[in-house]
Amino acid sequence: MTNLRPLSQLIDRYGRVVDYLRISITDRCDFRCVYCMAEDMTFLPRDQVLSLEEIYTLALAFAELGVKKIRITGGEPLVRKGALELLKNIGRIETLSELVITTNGSQLETMAVQLKEAGVKRINISLDTLDADKFKAITRTGDLSQVLRGIQAAKLAGFERIKINAVILKDRNHLEVCDLVQFAVDNSIDISFIEEMPLGVVSQHDRSEAYYSSASIKADLVQKFALVASSEKTGGPSNYFNVTGTQTRVGFISPHSENFCSTCNRVRLTVEGRLLLCLGNEHSVDLKQVVRSHPGNMALLKQAIVDAMLIKPEKHEFNIHEQPVILRYMNMTGG
Ligand code: SAM
Ligand code: SF4
Repeated sequence: MTNLRPLSQLIDRYGRVVDYLRISITDRCDFRCVYCMAEDMTFLPRDQVLSLEEIYTLALAFAELGVKKIRITGGEPLVRKGALELLKNIGRIETLSELVITTNGSQLETMAVQLKEAGVKRINISLDTLDADKFKAITRTGDLSQVLRGIQAAKLAGFERIKINAVILKDRNHLEVCDLVQFAVDNSIDISFIEEMPLGVVSQHDRSEAYYSSASIKADLVQKFALVASSEKTGGPSNYFNVTGTQTRVGFISPHSENFCSTCNRVRLTVEGRLLLCLGNEHSVDLKQVVRSHPGNMALLKQAIVDAMLIKPEKHEFNIHEQPVILRYMNMTGG
């Protein structure tokens, strides 16, 4: 190809360098969390979903363009057949400095060791409550004890870092924020609290009513814990605090109350192969089409990725008080 511009790092119109890719490897999940999915979900037919080989090719293209960190997510990534093999292959990409995963923990009891062996360094496990009934109510199908066993298995497997992700909803689990931090402290792991994002239409609660801000969570936590702001960043949107006298850090992901878009360094590959330039906008490029219509043409694929940076929006437009503009659910997107 003669008309291709020389390839460089991925930089958008606002000068932000993109070095972090999140890949949703399946839209399917064994849970149906109330903030993430409708109770009655229809999942994509197989031919619309990227194959494992296509995902690997895309991961390689991004790595060759300067992406240093890849997060594998979903849906529940560990329910996809062949996920471990894919992780192993991505873990072997030499220029990548970090391969991480976000999971609901349901499969960790049996898969934690293999994940570690596959090259996964850090692992995020979602856990919104320590109360078995509430856990069932929030996840609709999940079993708390299974996830707790999964967390112990992950600890034994020896990941560099384990972090709990907790979405906090007023009057569902907001009274548990101190207990969740205590759980993290007792297990010497980290925890991030996430404000719910308006992705997809949910039936079970009114998102505006259920909003519980990071500031409220912080105010609750300082009643019990001494939090000291940390300058450390992990390449994600969390603002971190150290819990004095412990090894635990508490993060806050606050899309509503503290906009983090100016430092955004990431893009997402949806399960359908759409490169999504922003979680809170629909600007995207169909990379599945590029991969499928020009198999083996890495230069063309990389050019499509470089060009996509030009449409990365400046910021998300989430408004929790309005009906969601973004109809795609988090499981498609890869949280
Ligand atoms: N199934 C895995 C899990 O639950 O960890 C990975 C995929 S899940 C979509 C990734 C993260 O997104 C989870 O921590 C989940 O709590 C979070 N999440 C899902 N829907 C969300 C929403 N509407 N707002 C904020 N976070 C959400
Ligand atoms: Fe599944 Fe994760 Fe969504 Fe819960 S948050 S339904 S575990 S994909």
